[in-house]
Amino acid sequence: MILPSAIEFVEVGPRDGLQNEAVILATNDKLSLIERLIDAGARRIEVASFVNPRRVPQMADAEDVCAGLPPRGDVTYVGLVLNLRGAERALATGRIDQLGAVAVATDSFAMANQGQTCAGSVAAACDIVALANRGGASGQVTIAAAFGCPYEGEVDPSHVVEMARTLAQSGPAEIALADTIGVADPWRVTELVRRVSDAVAPLPVRVHFHNTRGTGLANVWAAVGAGATIVDASVGGLGGCPFALGAAGNVCSEDVVYMLERAGIATGMRIDALIATSQWLGSLIDKQLPGMAARAPAFPPGA
Ligand code: ZN
Repeated sequence: MILPSAIEFVEVGPRDGLQNEAVILATNDKLSLIERLIDAGARRIEVASFVNPRRVPQMADAEDVCAGLPPRGDVTYVGLVLNLRGAERALATGRIDQLGAVAVATDSFAMANQGQTCAGSVAAACDIVALANRGGASGQVTIAAAFGCPYEGEVDPSHVVEMARTLAQSGPAEIALADTIGVADPWRVTELVRRVSDAVAPLPVRVHFHNTRGTGLANVWAAVGAGATIVDASVGGLGGCPFALGAAGNVCSEDVVYMLERAGIATGMRIDALIATSQWLGSLIDKQLPGMAARAPAFPPGA
């Protein structure tokens, strides 16, 4: 295992994190969250999804959030989209720098999540990336349920590698592997990250883990050791997926930052500011967030 000296950190709390929270945050609170995350060092943030507001009420104000984003040339704002209509909405805001498309590894989950087959989701993702590139943005694709499906169970790694190969031809900035329902383990993560990295090189591989079964941090560690250079996380460990039963939150930003920085892997994030943001957000939505670092004393003391 050769560890990198740095990774790129992507904060997904304002989108994937909030999406499954029962409390609907006011647009201004979402913007405060985004500003705090920027202050903490985040330079790529998933800020909204452009999906049917009847299915995801938390994201109904996506356009308003975009209108209020701090104008920062050094921050990449990501909008999640599932189809061309969503992509056009995101680009029309003029504030989204990168479209995030989702291809789903199994037909059953693709149907439940976005009303497409697996192949249909791959085709749609390729179209979204092409539209982003034409529209002056960039595009990236996440392969959802890459490590397991809530309906079909095991997912064949070779199938995911083939999906990644096809998606890579559409010109994305990266390919991401998402453990949407939190079933991955470090062994499988190591294998799949290595194989997908080989298949899409020189494109980078991003990873997206949920901590449903407590393997989230171990999976981040395995992924970084296997060649993933970009890591998603959500402040406080917020989040889940409304369409995946029992799915817990994302791996927690401050916990991931603590682990990686202690190993000498730079994340660009200030853990004290992340912890303060996590505590602020927990009180705002009146919930004990699952992240651990924000509940522990600073280490080393005074850090
Ligand atoms: Zn997720």
